Amino acid sequence: MKPGQVKPHAELRERTFRSRLLAWYDAHARDLPWRASRDPYRVWLSEIMLQQTRVAAVIEHYHEFLRRFPTVEKLAAAREASVLAAWSGLGYYRRARMLHAAAKVIARQLGGKFPATPQVLLALPGVGRYTAAAVASIAFGEPIAVVDGNVERVLQRISGQRLAGEELWDAAEELLDRDRPGDFNQAMMELGATVCTPRAPGCLTCAVVDLCATRGEMAGAAKATPQKKREIHYALDFRDEDGRDAAVFLVQRARAASLMAGMWELPEMAGPAAGAGKKQIPHSSRKGKGGVRDETPTPLFTVRHSITVTDYTVRVWRSPAPAGTSGQWFPVERLGRVALTGLARKILRKAKILQE
Ligand code: SF4
Repeated sequence: MKPGQVKPHAELRERTFRSRLLAWYDAHARDLPWRASRDPYRVWLSEIMLQQTRVAAVIEHYHEFLRRFPTVEKLAAAREASVLAAWSGLGYYRRARMLHAAAKVIARQLGGKFPATPQVLLALPGVGRYTAAAVASIAFGEPIAVVDGNVERVLQRISGQRLAGEELWDAAEELLDRDRPGDFNQAMMELGATVCTPRAPGCLTCAVVDLCATRGEMAGAAKATPQKKREIHYALDFRDEDGRDAAVFLVQRARAASLMAGMWELPEMAGPAAGAGKKQIPHSSRKGKGGVRDETPTPLFTVRHSITVTDYTVRVWRSPAPAGTSGQWFPVERLGRVALTGLARKILRKAKILQE
């Protein structure tokens, strides 16, 4: 083979790959709300929300978050508790705090102008290499490739190589369509999310199957992290004297907690032994306006909840908080504005204290 023959062949394959992938994306991309706009604030918000969170859950929150904070200035001016309340249910609350901090930088130090280049975007709180490249390419058309879990899988299968680290970024850069970088990046992620899936890639319907080195041979390579199981009990301490002044007793997570720091949740209690329903757990003795309250824990319902690698079975009891618990009563009409954990919101909705 003469020198110079390999390169043109590879270039032709790359060009074919780009045009096939983009044609497929134009025809089959999911109609997701953040794709309707190239506004950098909306692109950035969706990218942060989509980190470690399913698309369906993000759609639910995306519109509501934008309704509350329609511009980066409005987000910068909001109280942290309001931002966390709007984020409630998405999990990984550090993202919300970083988003808020970055909004303040943009609004106060950059005059409300979103940075357009990955280098400047990277300096914002909570913006890493992936997010900087995604916002720069999608919102500003900067020719820079992204690598996330989906792109990594597609690149490995297309090339038939176990690429890692910088090799992945280099391979993504080489394939990138420089005329439509934002669409190309989204098309790679879309292919990984909907066709070239971890366990059962749909090679038969794949637009780039004849350019793929493995065609499904590397399926199932992704290992699922084993989930731990835990049972926990929560006290739903709710007062509703004479149908007025309804309120719920909540406790605040420590500011230094690694997860959901500073957010409000129901007080945890020891699991009642068999035969609960008879007085057997020490609880604080509180009096409501109507006199001494019934302190006997009674089972209400059970919910399932997953946080990172743990699946929780959550038993909820109608019960005063355990003695010595420090917390606060929140009027029910204020609950929508409180930074509740996702689990607390789930429980209060199931108890019909909080509206859907
Ligand atoms: Fe993935 Fe199969 Fe398409 Fe290759 S042919 S990119 S393995 S879906």
